[in-house]
Amino acid sequence: MSDISSSISELKEMMKKFVKERDWTVYHHPKELAIALSIESNELLELFLFENRTLDEIQGNPKLMKMISGEVADVFAYLLSIVNTLNLDLTSIFTKKMEKNREKYPFTEFYGNYTKK
Ligand SMILES: [Mg+2]
Repeated sequence: MSDISSSISELKEMMKKFVKERDWTVYHHPKELAIALSIESNELLELFLFENRTLDEIQGNPKLMKMISGEVADVFAYLLSIVNTLNLDLTSIFTKKMEKNREKYPFTEFYGNYTKK
């Protein structure tokens, strides 16, 4: 499977099946999942703590890339679990948010700049 060949709904189903097979649904309250998502995000952040690697140095380090990939997958797994628990349509909420972001940060004002001119 790769990004080219997979769909969000397939990944949501994969996560749902994994949780159901282990009878973990009872632990998947949105609060617990939000906490777990934050913890996994911080595990990702920890990989960069006290480091000042360039993008090339990061991508050229297979061991680090493997650890980053693992944490990114953990973050995504909990994100999918929150989406599943709350019956959210990830594509719909993401596209609506991106629409809002395009209005909030028009490229004519924010091109190459995170702050308003
Ligand atoms: Mg982790």
